[in-house]
Amino acid sequence: MGNYWMLQDYFTAYLRIVRGLSDRSIGHYYDALNLISRFLCERHLIQETIFEVADLSRLEELREILYKDREFVDLNSRGHHMYSAGMNNYLRFAEADEFFGKKTELVLLDKPMPVTEMYVDEHNTWKRSAIIREQVLEAAEYRCEIDPTHKSFVVEHTNHQYAEGHHVIALNKQDRIPYSLDIYANIICLCPVCHRLLHYGSPHEKKPVAKIIYDKRANRLAKSGIKLSQREFENLVL
Ligand SMILES: [Zn+2]
Ligand SMILES: [Zn+2]
Repeated sequence: MGNYWMLQDYFTAYLRIVRGLSDRSIGHYYDALNLISRFLCERHLIQETIFEVADLSRLEELREILYKDREFVDLNSRGHHMYSAGMNNYLRFAEADEFFGKKTELVLLDKPMPVTEMYVDEHNTWKRSAIIREQVLEAAEYRCEIDPTHKSFVVEHTNHQYAEGHHVIALNKQDRIPYSLDIYANIICLCPVCHRLLHYGSPHEKKPVAKIIYDKRANRLAKSGIKLSQREFENLVL
């Protein structure tokens, strides 16, 4: 089975639905990003494609490297800056601030995403995309999705309220679910107290919170290929 890159799929949906670009423009961006991917592969900076990079700071680092590379700079100016345009547009997507307050837009991007990788890294934890999580937090404006009046504190370097991303159905349940769980519909923005409750609380206290999440997310999960009755949902999250 060939490798499958979820960020590529989300990026396409974003360009089409949120940015309203034509297939032709999207095609240009992909040509540019394919060239960039080949370029970075040749330099052993990535394995296959720019879409494999799940961490924003690494992506920004790669852009720096690229824009300082003589060969790339020449190629880019001969190509009328099409390559840097592709890269900048991808970064614009990955730098989640584009998604601030865009809850409705994010919902439009929900779709079933295949599971094709074993999500285990060398530390034996489940691999997850920091980019996708950050986009979800931005869309929720860092407010707790259980109750937006929950307060934490303001983070000094971002000026946003502190919030955490939580996988509604834990990634270690992936073997029971036919589609990827590291998706927008399965990540929720929570205040730290609600988040800790879901990880450490008793089932009795978690149950009403799980119900709120089910009511908010059941349709989105279904649209992402994960159809669950409330009972099945509770069995997975409680
Ligand atoms: Zn969590
Ligand atoms: Zn909360």
